Amino acid sequence: MTLFKRTLALSLALLSFTAFAKPQPILVQGAMDIETSTLVNALEDAKETTVGSWTFWQGEIDGYPVVVSRTEVGLANAAASTTIGIELFKPKYIINQGTSGGHDPKLYRGDIVIGETSFNMGAYKSEFTEKGKGINPTKWQNFDVTMRLRENGELVEHKQFEADPTLVKAALSVAGSYEKGKVVKGRIGTADEWNREVDRINWLHETFGTSVEEMETSSAALVANAYNVPFVGIRILSNTDQHKQDFDPQTAVDCQLYTIDVIKALISNQ
Ligand code: SAH
Repeated sequence: MTLFKRTLALSLALLSFTAFAKPQPILVQGAMDIETSTLVNALEDAKETTVGSWTFWQGEIDGYPVVVSRTEVGLANAAASTTIGIELFKPKYIINQGTSGGHDPKLYRGDIVIGETSFNMGAYKSEFTEKGKGINPTKWQNFDVTMRLRENGELVEHKQFEADPTLVKAALSVAGSYEKGKVVKGRIGTADEWNREVDRINWLHETFGTSVEEMETSSAALVANAYNVPFVGIRILSNTDQHKQDFDPQTAVDCQLYTIDVIKALISNQ
C-alpha cells in the first residue's frame, strides 16, 4: 500500500466512524450550484469533501447532521453521487430536490411536486419493424429496471420507485406555509432529455402519468432502493411549456427553502 492509499483508507475509516458516532445524517441532493447553494448556506459549520467530481458539504441544521450533495446533471451523475453519498455518510434519509419541467397542464411554474413515484422515462424498447417502415416514437414502450435483491439475489422488476411514505408525509406537512404555488403529490419522469414539443409532453403525461420531467430523481431512487435508504423527490416546476413559462432560476432557491422546512419538520419529529 502506498502512503496515499493508506491515508485514504484511514480517512474513509474515520469518516465512517464519525458517521456511526453521531446520529445518521439527512442527505439532501441537488444537481447544480443554483440548486444547492441555498442549502449549503443553511448549514452550520459546513465542511466540504469532494470524491471524483462530486462534492458534499457536511454540517448541521437545528443541531442535526445534514449532508448537502451536488450530484451534477443527469442519471449517471445522480447514481454515482448517491452511491458515494451512502457509502461515505450512511444517511438515514435521502431527499432529492430541484427544478423540473411541467407535464401536467394543471401545474404552473412555482408549483411543487412531492414524488410519490419516479421512473426512468428515457428507457425504451421497440417492436421489430421492416426496413422502410419508419420511426414511431409513440409506439416505443418504457423499459422496466431489473434489480437484484441483496438478501437472496432474486431479480426484481421495477416499473417505478416508490418514495418512503413517512418522507412524503413530512414533505406535505409544510405545504401550508408555501406561498409561491400549489404543493401536490405526483409522478416524476427522469430522463437524459429536455422535452419541449408540447404534443410529446402531452403524450408522456397521458401515457405514463407524469407530473413533471427532470434528469436525476429515479436514478437516485434506484440506488437508495438498493441500499434500503428511505427516499423522496421534491421537484419544483421551473418551466412548463404547457403554459409558455420559461426557466426561472428563483424557483431553484424556492425549492431549497421549501426543502429546508421539510428537513426541519423531519428533525423536530425525531
Ligand atoms: N448545463 C445546462 C443546464 C442543464 S439543465 C445549462 O446550463 O444549460 C438540466 C437540469 O435541470 C437537470 O438537472 C434537470 O433535473 C433540471 N430540469 C429543469 N427543467 C427540466 C426540463 N424541462 N427537462 C429536463 N430537465 C429539467
